[in-house]
Amino acid sequence: MFSPINAILGFFSYDIGIDLGTANTLVMVKGKGIIINEPSVVAEAKRMVGRTPASIVAVRPLKDGVISDFETTERMLNYFITKVHEKFSFMVPRPRVVIGIPSGCTEVEKRAVRDAALNAGARECYLIEEPMAAAIGAGLPVMEPTASMVVDIGGGTTEVAVIALGGIVASKSIRVAGDEMDEEIINYCRQHYSLLIGERMAEEVKIAAGSAFPLEEEVEVVLRGRDIVTGLPKEVTMSSVEVREAISAPVQAIVDAVKTTLEITPPELVADLMDRGIVLAGGGSLLRGLDRRIAYETKAKVYVADDPLTCVVRGTGVVLEDLDRLRKVLVEVQTTRPFRFA
Ligand code: ADP
Ligand code: MG
Repeated sequence: MFSPINAILGFFSYDIGIDLGTANTLVMVKGKGIIINEPSVVAEAKRMVGRTPASIVAVRPLKDGVISDFETTERMLNYFITKVHEKFSFMVPRPRVVIGIPSGCTEVEKRAVRDAALNAGARECYLIEEPMAAAIGAGLPVMEPTASMVVDIGGGTTEVAVIALGGIVASKSIRVAGDEMDEEIINYCRQHYSLLIGERMAEEVKIAAGSAFPLEEEVEVVLRGRDIVTGLPKEVTMSSVEVREAISAPVQAIVDAVKTTLEITPPELVADLMDRGIVLAGGGSLLRGLDRRIAYETKAKVYVADDPLTCVVRGTGVVLEDLDRLRKVLVEVQTTRPFRFA
């Protein structure tokens, strides 16, 4: 219904979309584009027990894709919303916010995220499941009756979803994604080379030489770490064949999640997917040959979305632009306790 107050508020207000990823948080302002793209870490001063100097530790509140720590999540939302609001302080009303949440969040978690956003200063808060936002950001026709499949491979979770008529028809979420590949590279180095490397080195190796399918030209990388036995610095050369072997279990788990989702998808929709293909999003989709590997194992065409790291936040932006048409894709949050007889 048209209300003059809302119209005035709307004119002076601004809308923001947030992708609270396990690895990266992105924020976009409608009409302005992506204005924040930062790792999802909250620096916390923690006093070690029994020791005086406070040390700063990095906390990842969404490490496994679930909102395990509400206080930290609220502080993180507060930080991002305030940061945006400072830049737009001439806009008096607080922003409307669309937030991507992991699919399969419980009612309690949804309410917690929404309340956190409202406490952090949002005027209105809408939630959208991340794979839905990723699909919209990747340009898939989510409102059509023809089904699409999106696979969002992030840091902590991989979410597979089949979408049609503005809803998620079949989905699967696993806590295996990019981070686990890094961990497997660390394990491999320890076992095969007695070499201790850090998470950052492992991620660099994955990006430089990781793959999910044999490469036309295999490459080599030099790893620097510490010898487990002597404790001294050590360098090891590793081939992309070895890196592929090191990360094979998490890669297989991602492929299997896609296959399982195809198995639980109604047959007539599977036919749509075979015609249209599967779209990959999220940072993990940049792993070399992952598209070919999934294509090889499912016999479907597979594409990597343009700019896969920003699909979710761009999807929230599209929803903000066209809230009336796309309202159906949003997640309902129960505000009051459902009425029950007896
Ligand atoms: P999230 O949504 O969980 O925050 P992102 O979509 O931001 O995750 O993706 C982060 C993951 O993508 C990390 O594990 C990172 O190592 C991985 N990643 C980023 N670039 C590449 C690349 N070129 N090759 C392989 N993995 C990559
Ligand atoms: Mg993500």
